[in-house]
Amino acid sequence: MERTVKLKIRRQDGPHRPETRRWEEFVVPWQPRMNVISALMEIRKNPVTTKGEKVAPVVWESVCLEEVCGSCTMLVNGKVRQSCTALVDAISPHGETITLEPMSKFPLVRDLVVDRSRMFGDLKKVHAWIQLDGTHELGPGPRQSQENQEEAYPLSRCMTCGCCLEACPQINDSSGFVGPAALNQVRLFNLHPSGKLHASERLETVMGEDGVAGCGKAQNCVEVCPKEIPLVDSIASVARQTTKQMLFKWLLK
Ligand code: SF4
Repeated sequence: MERTVKLKIRRQDGPHRPETRRWEEFVVPWQPRMNVISALMEIRKNPVTTKGEKVAPVVWESVCLEEVCGSCTMLVNGKVRQSCTALVDAISPHGETITLEPMSKFPLVRDLVVDRSRMFGDLKKVHAWIQLDGTHELGPGPRQSQENQEEAYPLSRCMTCGCCLEACPQINDSSGFVGPAALNQVRLFNLHPSGKLHASERLETVMGEDGVAGCGKAQNCVEVCPKEIPLVDSIASVARQTTKQMLFKWLLK
């Protein structure tokens, strides 16, 4: 008998169409080394449910297919992760049904696609960049020490996938908490010899309730980060920096 892969997919036809929210099930032929994206591609070739209904192809997002862009992040069997690295044989070793759902902390676009603009907005809010003054020749920047590089490299691996926000209980419709990814970027850019020049501006942006104080210390972020970024350490580091800056400002008053 031909080996197959069973998928149960949460669908919705558009952002403002909650009445179309439903589960649909599909069965596709198994192939060696298949991942969730290749299973979705099989559905796209022939979008017919297990009930025999011809439906619109499932909508999902993916770009790099090597866990670098973060765009294919979704809930696979209830766990937030990239679907490109979700290998069918690993997540369904005995042919168990694989469930796919969109992330819940971002606005839904359609089916498995969400709008992660919130994360990009938060990166802007915290000034997650090195400011350059014009395009003229500035000469070489300050040298970065080996220790500094070693501390910065793991922090720089963030791909803004959104897993940490999805897992964080402090991220919800009524909170403006910037979240672990943006706080990690504050640590990263404040470490950089040129980025340091704007460290205090960056810290000002995360001093309020929506900044570092918004963290409830659940530590879920570090558990789900696919890049194993030490997010809890980053939040603690930024918290120390903001405290120092507050004390300094108070002493200068
Ligand atoms: Fe994804 Fe980790 Fe970056 Fe959060 S910190 S967005 S989980 S890569």
